[in-house]
Amino acid sequence: MNDVRRDFEVKPGRAVRLSAIDPGQKPDGMDKASGNAETAKNAERLGELQYLLYAENRRSLLIVLQGLDAAGKDGTISSVLRGMNAQGTRVQGFKVPSTLEASHDFLWRAHRHVPARGEVVVFNRSHYEDVLTVRVHELVPKAVWEKRYGLITDFEKNLVESGTHILKFFLHISPDAQLERFKARLDDPARRWKISEADYTEQKLWPAYVAAYEQMLAETSTAHAPWFVIPSNHKWARNLAISRILVETLESLDMKPPVPTVDIEEIRRKYHAAKDEAGAHEK
Ligand code: AMP
Ligand code: MG
Repeated sequence: MNDVRRDFEVKPGRAVRLSAIDPGQKPDGMDKASGNAETAKNAERLGELQYLLYAENRRSLLIVLQGLDAAGKDGTISSVLRGMNAQGTRVQGFKVPSTLEASHDFLWRAHRHVPARGEVVVFNRSHYEDVLTVRVHELVPKAVWEKRYGLITDFEKNLVESGTHILKFFLHISPDAQLERFKARLDDPARRWKISEADYTEQKLWPAYVAAYEQMLAETSTAHAPWFVIPSNHKWARNLAISRILVETLESLDMKPPVPTVDIEEIRRKYHAAKDEAGAHEK
């Protein structure tokens, strides 16, 4: 796991077997302490890069987080994105659609929340729920959800064409790790509120979710909006992998602060020279 892009990116059109990807993987030569240290450094760098994106005001970044309950979507947001400025950054969660949302096409609510120029937006769950939960619970017939893969890739292509960079992360955990995290929540008064009985009943649907995720990854990982399968049993390894991919992607954009619209030297002469001189006399 040194070249995280090569290791975790789902190649377009390639079938995915999640059982062949170990969710407990750790990066070569790293442990929790060195991993967390690098993630902290990356988070700081991400803050600088996000500021450049905002200042440049030309392009945007959409980060999609998907994963089963307790896979670590919330944790990724707080650990990896902590260096980003609230000015220019947004997190959008996707719950069971409201009456208004449900009365529109499935992409409507996603489209409303995509990043504007200069913005970073994180989707905590996303339009992909409409080929995941919706498929597993048979909320619409197969003939309806099957068409959505193509609709989604077209939708994302449209965003990319208008300057949005899209990175999609599937947080891959094992059923045992998930159960352990539910247990830890039960034992933690501060996080008990997150537990629902559905978390446990959904565990029975694990194989159906795996099938839905595998097809989603194969059908919707594209060159313009790739999916990454992130081994997530170890939170520090997950944070490290995602932070590396984000830094690498944003650095490749070669962003520069905009050229000032005024003549800096002239402004300096006009408004600062007299004061600077006075200041020099005082000394
Ligand atoms: P949580 O992320 O734990 O707050 O839960 C949000 C819930 O909303 C999850 O159970 C999702 O599966 C569900 N959800 C999100 N999008 C949809 C959708 N389009 N249709 C049905 N359920 C959804
Ligand atoms: Mg939940």
